[in-house]
Amino acid sequence: AMPGATDYLSDLNDAQRDAATTLEGAVLMLAGAGTGKTKALTARIAHLVRTGTARPNEILAVTFTNKAAREMKDRVARATGLVEGMPWLGTFHAISVKLLRRHAELAGLKSNFTILDTDDTIRLLRQGIEAANIDTKRWPPRQLAGIIDSWKNRAIRPGAVPASEADAFNGHGPRLYAEYQQRLRDLNACDFGDLLLHVVTIFQNHEDVLAQYRRWFRYILVDEYQDTNAVQYLWLRLLAGGHGNICCVGDDDQSIYGWRGAEVGNILRFEKDFPGAKVVRLEQNYRSTGHILAAASGVIAANKGRLGKTLWTAGEEGHKVRLIGHWDGDEEARWTGEEIESMQRGTRGMRPFGLDEMAILVRASHQMRAFEDRFLTIGLPYRVIGGPRFYERLEIRDAMAYFRLAVSPDDDLAFERIVNTPKRGLGEKAQQKIQVAARSNDLSLLEGARLLVRTKQIGGKGGAALAELVDGLGRWHLMVREEASHVETAETILEEAGYIAHWQNEKTPEAPGRLENLKELVKALENFENLQGFLEHVALIMDNEQEEGGEKVTLMTLHAAKGLEFPAVFLPGWEDGLFPSQRAMDEGGLKGVEEERRLAYVGITRAEECCTISFAANRRTYGQWQSSMPSRFIDELPEEHVEVLTPPGLYGGMGAAGGSMAASASPEMQTLAESRIWQRAQEADVYASPGWRRMQARAGERPARAPAESRTTIDMTADSAFTAGDRVFHKKFGYGEVRAIEGDKLEVAFDKAGTKKIVARFVLPAEG
Ligand code: ATP
Ligand code: MG
Repeated sequence: AMPGATDYLSDLNDAQRDAATTLEGAVLMLAGAGTGKTKALTARIAHLVRTGTARPNEILAVTFTNKAAREMKDRVARATGLVEGMPWLGTFHAISVKLLRRHAELAGLKSNFTILDTDDTIRLLRQGIEAANIDTKRWPPRQLAGIIDSWKNRAIRPGAVPASEADAFNGHGPRLYAEYQQRLRDLNACDFGDLLLHVVTIFQNHEDVLAQYRRWFRYILVDEYQDTNAVQYLWLRLLAGGHGNICCVGDDDQSIYGWRGAEVGNILRFEKDFPGAKVVRLEQNYRSTGHILAAASGVIAANKGRLGKTLWTAGEEGHKVRLIGHWDGDEEARWTGEEIESMQRGTRGMRPFGLDEMAILVRASHQMRAFEDRFLTIGLPYRVIGGPRFYERLEIRDAMAYFRLAVSPDDDLAFERIVNTPKRGLGEKAQQKIQVAARSNDLSLLEGARLLVRTKQIGGKGGAALAELVDGLGRWHLMVREEASHVETAETILEEAGYIAHWQNEKTPEAPGRLENLKELVKALENFENLQGFLEHVALIMDNEQEEGGEKVTLMTLHAAKGLEFPAVFLPGWEDGLFPSQRAMDEGGLKGVEEERRLAYVGITRAEECCTISFAANRRTYGQWQSSMPSRFIDELPEEHVEVLTPPGLYGGMGAAGGSMAASASPEMQTLAESRIWQRAQEADVYASPGWRRMQARAGERPARAPAESRTTIDMTADSAFTAGDRVFHKKFGYGEVRAIEGDKLEVAFDKAGTKKIVARFVLPAEG
């Protein structure tokens, strides 16, 4: 045996061992979550090497993420004792880059070709669209990028666009696609989608090259096969077509990339593609306890289009899946933070969990903001995987730069960031002029720009745009100085700067997410007294994160969590419209909701011992309460595997209905049926409506629920609900009495904080 090698076969079950040791021919491992597919695949690589069946470099293994590739490499190294000469192990893209570098000339490129990022791609497409005299406002480059990407995902080359899609991008799509590919060639560049498509093209057009690689890669292995798209499928079929030594593992119930062109049909077609393929089914789940597994199985059973399989575990029943409803998103984040802290000590009959053992998996990345803010406040270490942290995102940094300038007009870095964002026709030349004007007159960039505008030194479109920007910045600064509502100021800035419109015009898959994040940013503002305070908060956050090491809670999206596992998992935001997403419900129809349900299945099955699902009855968007219904997936959780937790604050002051409900139910162990979750949400909705609030206020009654930190913003902008003499409550200043009303502002004499002017929607009516 090789030194340092561990025994990689002894801890497999019979079916796994069968799959790992049947080395010749095609093998499909089709099995549910946590059944050890990835483990068996890794053992198979080790077995190929250890038995001398293949040299490491004759093995090609495709994983879904780079992280998964690294983990597999580590495990193979441990099982084989290999240090050097590892198998080819990586994502489709990573492997394709290597292949393409070797044969670039066959794709019309040089081997030192550059790979364009999304920004470069968009810029190039914009040039093409403008050259064709098409209005980029109506026909944004990002939309074209999405169309071209979807063609590349399906291996559709220029000149081969099907007639049914010839009218794409107002009929210009096919021609612009061809021109774009030509431009890329001229630039010795390719985009992300090209990496795979070029390799496939080379294989198809050059038999000798394909034959060489078929001889070379004698064994091919693919993890997460259910999420391959058409071009990846072609790529695999071409390579494995000769010897047919291919082992694919997947789970049709975990296919979650349909929106990116993945075709779950590939998995169903495997036996046809590789006649005589051995199909291995695994049914024993080694990851999750009984209740968790049963809950996941119950949810996925609601999907119609599935092969269907049974999963069982020899492990303990464990703890039921925990379900908890919250008043709003902030309370959800607060409760989760507290629960994580108690779980570190051991709570509710569970063992203590380390921070590294816990993860929060969200449907949409904007959900992370509330958790990040909360964790920073209580000093709970966390990491975000698979994307920047909230305040590091492009659109958030752009928006923050505007806010910074509104607060401090001298902030030159912020000015540089936004002067041509969104595009205003202020290119490098104009920006240089501003720099020179500022430096030679010892002014800030903004003042320099103002000087140029006054002296009309920048002409044309750019000049007019600069004048408008300088004007706007002046106005916004005034709003800050005059202490206008900072939330409104922020909204005004993003609106008037054209920044919102900029993303609205981008018809790409990620644009709605960016708009969501901007909404979320404005929401975050509401928790602060003014813009300045908010900016300080964020500056501190960004500073805090330097410290590395130590245990951390993981925060990531459900999509990024595929294939991973954690002892304790939190799944927040299970509300219709958020999860399943509104888009899936509107556009995807049944198919869309089924894909969301698979995502729910992926989420629950990441948990080993403890799974906590939560939802909020209200979420705030742009200062407006929006009530939401618990996710339909919650109804699909089998009751006997669910324990409903009672949130500390929900029943407390909910008035008669809430009170009686709280009294009748044993607080910790209500069954799902009794709890009538949706009913609660509806009551909460009534409670949250501004009209109801106003009525209560007029009647001089105390709001049914005592003001809590998280609920000090109620939209009352329509008309003031207050009259002089009303008692009010403000989050920061406490109780006080209304003295005068001016528009949407109140002059309030606070008991402790003195007299202040406050925007009406930031106070709550309080009892007299
Ligand atoms: P997913 O569908 O989520 O990707 P999977 O089928 O790839 O799951 P693995 O991640 O390979 O499953 O395995 C799940 C867990 O079960 C891992 O912790 C793994 O170590 C463990 N496991 C798998 N097979 C066995 C076995 N035969 N004996 C003990 N533990 C096992
Ligand atoms: Mg796996």
